[in-house]
Amino acid sequence: MTKANTVSRYKDVCAQIDAAAKSAGRQSDAVQLVAVSKTYFEDDIEPVIETGHRIFGENRIQESQKKWPALKEKYSDIELHLIGPLQSNKAGEAVALFDVIETVDREKIANALAGEMRKQDRQLDVYIQVNTGMEEQKAGIAPQQTGPFVSFCRDDLQLNVVGLMCIPPADENPGPHFALLRKLARENKLDKLSMGMSGDFETGIEFGATLVRVGSAIFGSRA
Ligand SMILES: *Cc1c(COP(=O)(O)O)cnc(C)c1O
Repeated sequence: MTKANTVSRYKDVCAQIDAAAKSAGRQSDAVQLVAVSKTYFEDDIEPVIETGHRIFGENRIQESQKKWPALKEKYSDIELHLIGPLQSNKAGEAVALFDVIETVDREKIANALAGEMRKQDRQLDVYIQVNTGMEEQKAGIAPQQTGPFVSFCRDDLQLNVVGLMCIPPADENPGPHFALLRKLARENKLDKLSMGMSGDFETGIEFGATLVRVGSAIFGSRA
């Protein structure tokens, strides 16, 4: 991937997001793009930042600690989203580096994050990850536990729960999963929906995504 290619792919994705929003009868600024830069390094990421883009997603704490502190220092308004699974012993590092946690999916993690946010005096926005396909190997709470878990996070722990996130099963039509996530968000009075990746972000937008997480369509396929 050359850098010029990365920037032109980024612009293509932005145009596709705009078009998908329009055809769904939505404002294009109602959909935000999380540029998923996992496995890519500064040389690939910085040209995208230079276009004015500020929202990025990473799935590993350790990798993020290697590349993001310097970039955040250089560009003060970066919004970094954690989109991968979190261990409770890494909650402190996650709260220190990230701005949004999209993958809150169990009490132990919710407790650890709430404690760290108090300790560090940093209130991050969080999403609850829902395992809409009930896949054994996949993170996320079961759909029918969404209500109780949201109220535990929001009311008992005072976490700033802003929305729901899902990753549909790879081999299924994503539409019904996105529809389920939207229904669960409405029932819980949550406005934000993080759903849709390189292969299905247009479908996500059709079903009401406010955030799409796109990696390979921008940066190229990962080794
Ligand atoms: C890697 C990843 C993405 C981006 O995937 P692409 O198919 O490369 O766009 C989105 N969401 C999560 C949770 C990921 O881990």
